[in-house]
Amino acid sequence: MKKVYLDHSATTRTDEDVAKLMMEYMTEFYGNPSSIHSFGRITRKAVEEAREKVARAIGAQPDEIIFTSGGTEADNLALRGVAYANKKRGNHIITSVIEHHAVLDTCKNLAREGFDISYLPVDEHGRVNPEDVKNAITDKTILISVMHANNEIGTIQPLREIGAIAREKGIYLHSDTVQSIGKIPVNVDELNIDLLSISAHKFYGPKGIGCLYMRKGARVLPISFGGAQERKRRPGTLNVPGIVGFGLAIEKAVASIQEQTAFQSRLRDKLIKEVKNKIDYVRLNGHPTERLPNNVNLSFQFIEGESLLLSLDMKGIAASSGSACTSGSLDPSHVLLAIGLSHEIAHGSLRMTLGKDNTEEEIDYVIEVLPEIVERLRAMSPLYADRAKSGNHQTKGCCSNVH
Ligand SMILES: *Cc1c(COP(=O)(O)O)cnc(C)c1O
Repeated sequence: MKKVYLDHSATTRTDEDVAKLMMEYMTEFYGNPSSIHSFGRITRKAVEEAREKVARAIGAQPDEIIFTSGGTEADNLALRGVAYANKKRGNHIITSVIEHHAVLDTCKNLAREGFDISYLPVDEHGRVNPEDVKNAITDKTILISVMHANNEIGTIQPLREIGAIAREKGIYLHSDTVQSIGKIPVNVDELNIDLLSISAHKFYGPKGIGCLYMRKGARVLPISFGGAQERKRRPGTLNVPGIVGFGLAIEKAVASIQEQTAFQSRLRDKLIKEVKNKIDYVRLNGHPTERLPNNVNLSFQFIEGESLLLSLDMKGIAASSGSACTSGSLDPSHVLLAIGLSHEIAHGSLRMTLGKDNTEEEIDYVIEVLPEIVERLRAMSPLYADRAKSGNHQTKGCCSNVH
């Protein structure tokens, strides 16, 4: 059976060159980079070279990079680290309702500890309005955290505008750029970002490694203790294979942004267009143009996203419903509800995220298989039967009662 992987926003296949390099740093060069001897010197040098690559990819300096276990830890360190280091200045944090749970749940915990959190709404395309950011600022605001691109619907935020506001008011701006790094250009100075989270496994690097960029002079307290590594901001023996793999992966991903954007967005647009042509009562979620080149998020009326996923899986197609992290719970995605979808429509959602190894043939296969599956599932839906009988047909490709 064909196997088509369309879940690159959940994770990616590790690049072969990256995996090969990592293997060397497990079996051949295995010294602890904190050690004085030659074994340690070799890995220390490799770690510093990787740090330079990561810094270069986002327009930062190497000593502004703190390696972490991934995006989740980087988000935790950014929010908790800034909150506690700047508590004397204020206790107010501004974020948005569509953040990843790594940010939202950390905010929830900070709220229990006495911090005051404002959650900004988004428009129907999933964009935060910079004016809302400006209006939410008080004299107690110490941090603004807005993601660059959303992991579910792919919407890209007006970060430059938000960054300019934060800079003018002297408030830290953190951005979860886990989904945008390697897909669209990210430069910390152009966007006025003070703290930024990265995770290697979203761009063909290994799982379990990432970093927090902290602008020089930013006041951030550690959230764990026990060693002097990473300037005491993140103690623990460095994950050398992960770090060298991360360095190579980010270098390769950033170098191929232009080529991959052209390739993946063409397949993305073909997929969206053909699905809308062949299937009724479907809508595209997220921004029509300000979206990641690899993201397709569709809602199909009258069906359950979970049954759709299972049927696709039986055809060898790997996709995701609302969000990988919330699969298994019955609550629809907080992002889809935030853009105004009803529970019913949100439940019928499907996310397909492309990657560099997908082919046009694979996309054609999805275009062939998906309409048959949707038709079969709808045939079992009493709601759909009622709709067909009443002759209340909506315009093709539209799903107008979604709000
Ligand atoms: C995947 C993801 C994370 C979590 O990163 P991990 O390295 O898996 O912990 C955080 N934020 C966003 C937007 C993500 O897509």
